[in-house]
Amino acid sequence: MNTFEELGVIPEIRQAITELGFENPMPVQTEVIPQLLSNRRDIIALAQTGTGKTAAFGIPVIQKTDLTLLSPQTVILCPTRELCLQIAGDLTDFSAFMQDLKILPVYGGSSIESQIRTLKRGVHIIVATPGRLIDLINRRTVSFGHVHTVVLDEADEMLNMGFSESIDEILSSVPDSRSMLLFSATMPKEIEKITRKYMNDPMEVTIGRKNEGAQNVRHLYYMVHARDKYLALKRIVDYYPNIYGIVFCRTRKETQEIADKLLQDGYDADSLHGDLSQVQRDYVMSKYRNHNLQLLIATDVAARGLDVDDVTHIINFGLPDDSEVYTHRSGRTGRAGKTGTSIAIIHVKEKGKIAQIEKMIHKTFEKRTVPKGDLICEKQLFNFVDKVEKVKVDEEEINRLLPSIFRKLEWLGKEDIIKRVVSLEFNRLIEYYRQAEEIVEPEEKSSKGRKEGVRSERPDRNRKNGTLPEKGYARLFINVGKTDRVNPATLMGFVNEHVKGKVPVGRIDLMKNFSFFEVPEEFVPKVTKAFRGMYVDDRKLVVEVSREENESQREKKHFFETFEGTKKKKYKKKKY
Ligand code: AMP
Repeated sequence: MNTFEELGVIPEIRQAITELGFENPMPVQTEVIPQLLSNRRDIIALAQTGTGKTAAFGIPVIQKTDLTLLSPQTVILCPTRELCLQIAGDLTDFSAFMQDLKILPVYGGSSIESQIRTLKRGVHIIVATPGRLIDLINRRTVSFGHVHTVVLDEADEMLNMGFSESIDEILSSVPDSRSMLLFSATMPKEIEKITRKYMNDPMEVTIGRKNEGAQNVRHLYYMVHARDKYLALKRIVDYYPNIYGIVFCRTRKETQEIADKLLQDGYDADSLHGDLSQVQRDYVMSKYRNHNLQLLIATDVAARGLDVDDVTHIINFGLPDDSEVYTHRSGRTGRAGKTGTSIAIIHVKEKGKIAQIEKMIHKTFEKRTVPKGDLICEKQLFNFVDKVEKVKVDEEEINRLLPSIFRKLEWLGKEDIIKRVVSLEFNRLIEYYRQAEEIVEPEEKSSKGRKEGVRSERPDRNRKNGTLPEKGYARLFINVGKTDRVNPATLMGFVNEHVKGKVPVGRIDLMKNFSFFEVPEEFVPKVTKAFRGMYVDDRKLVVEVSREENESQREKKHFFETFEGTKKKKYKKKKY
């Protein structure tokens, strides 16, 4: 293995990174540093966060800076303010013994005036989010005449965030002679376009295989009915008592809702999403970084700026539409030589996505069954007992109190005391799981059966509840449910109020946010027509024939709709 010295790194930087604890270069550094130091070749590096990529580009750009020329020589573009600050901080650390090096982080949401003032005083390296840099270019406050290196960090994320045009604009305003480095965890088509347009015969460095997840991450999935996803999440979290995890949700609303529910249920959780102010986001991130928070519930975009090395579990509360997003999520665990677990809680219809992801990451998911209550209690108990064994005892402090404690507990035997301590900690958990219904796994349908809509392969839920429509009746879906204060009588009244003539309403199944009701088949056109285009408050009413392949999607969609607090409140007032 090469040393930093053999890679050509100067003593000032070596001294700084040694103090940071870097003993040997990481693979991406071995590949990139000498290339950048010795020639001006463009480089594409497929490397995830956690591989040491910041030092791979940071060390050579620092070393190549002409300190006597107080003008921007390197521009580093990255997707978020947090990453921008982190890169600038890392570069400052690497150049701790090069006091004259001026690095400026430039990002939105902070005073542009102070950034302009610093630019006027002169800087060597600009680390910027694309939007703010465009602002500065447009104000003609920054000159790129001496830029010799441009780094695009997390290029795929920048494109996902819609920075494509800004990147184009920035790249066209730096000299053609500059060399360019592009770091990306994945290689979507758009990145290939950029590389073709702006890079000259680039060298490609792949740390790990292309589009592959980190090697030391296990991938598990749990398949449940959509309505059981939250309960499954709780069980999974309970099953890993020492979890330090990130739960990824798809929307801001879902993120907030899941975090709120977890908090209500006594978990150490908080949310991170774009509806929070920057101050709130900073606060949550710092709580999480400092391990003052066990579970972070986040959207993909908001979690981008978070860089934590020791995340034990990533939980996908549903899978993202884009498999590459999964790679990013799972890449947040298993870092810095540690192992990690990436878990997907999915419903039956998402099974196909698992196969797509497996293809992309070249790894297989292990299917797991949601842990049963007794197994969870056992796991928690042993974890607690293990902690009791390992706890550090402050002899001096405790000795002072022990005589009176002994006196108080004199009448109890050792076994009694153990039982009581354990009960004190676990009665609630044991009680919860004693009462909780076990989660029933959905049956996996063959794709053939699914296409043909074979009724006998309906999920358990329907068979158990006997919800196949009665002979001669059709089952209709309506997007109002228990949370809208609908009951069978109001639903029947509602139907008859809006449909001309008397409609015989058969079986009614009320769900939380939607319902099913049966009407004779010949009434279907009349009923669905009567509600077409109707609004209740600001919500469009949907009444349509329930088709099996739509139900779980609906369940998901309408589950999320509960989060629309304002709509819900308005709707509640409505009397049928
Ligand atoms: P990055 O991929 O740049 O986010 O780096 C991941 C982590 O690895 C950071 O905490 C770095 O400080 C650390 N790191 C980078 N290079 C080395 C190295 N050569 N030896 C030890 N740690 C490193």
